[in-house]
Amino acid sequence: MPNGVVGQDANDYRVVVFGSAGVGKSSIVQQFVEGTYREGYVPTIEDTYRKVISSNKSVCTLQVTDTTGSHQFPAMQKLSIQKGHAFVLIYAVNNKQSLSDLKPIYDEIVDLKGGKAMVPVVLVGNKVDCPDREVLEAEGHRIAGQWDCGYLEASAKTKYNVQDVFEQLLLLEKRREMSLATSSAKGKGKSKAARRADGIKNKCSLM
Ligand code: GDP
Ligand code: MG
Repeated sequence: MPNGVVGQDANDYRVVVFGSAGVGKSSIVQQFVEGTYREGYVPTIEDTYRKVISSNKSVCTLQVTDTTGSHQFPAMQKLSIQKGHAFVLIYAVNNKQSLSDLKPIYDEIVDLKGGKAMVPVVLVGNKVDCPDREVLEAEGHRIAGQWDCGYLEASAKTKYNVQDVFEQLLLLEKRREMSLATSSAKGKGKSKAARRADGIKNKCSLM
């Protein structure tokens, strides 16, 4: 890939985050992209965040779209799935209903993407820091097994497994070799591509 095409649409890798209202979609995305966490619920319509990552020993823009939790906009949901390359499906471990709520979204992804495991999907049980758990880790695992997708428990509040969600998602992408090449990777064992992506990220900090 020649220099200068970073940020072009064709090279973007689009991740869409789904889940019921209040499960912590915005919190996970903000913790991942900005490294911040805020108490309090701010309703989301749809926001897209960008992060430069390495892809096929070059770089690309990881676009993370944080969707609204409600299903008031089925056409919007369909469009998001059609445009998305990979999906993060979030429920809260202290809200059993929020796990059931993901099933129709998962079904629509399978439907629109032409079958099971055609695109990377990671199921995430968020809010593991909460004491009032309603969904056991084994139950999340069982569903992820049925869905043939990745699975992690996480906490946007404590940062537990937040980075790992996106790492796992990129590992599931078979069409490209991708990794998060962010400065928060602490530099340990960084690949050339990762260091290069860091440099480009700094240059593109106004993107
Ligand atoms: P969204 O509607 O899915 O985008 O949910 P938000 O990210 O807005 O979060 C809803 C509420 O849950 C907010 O009050 C957050 O502070 C809280 N929250 C989000 N993630 C966590 C978490 O991992 N642990 C705890 N304890 N609270 C969380
Ligand atoms: Mg939100």
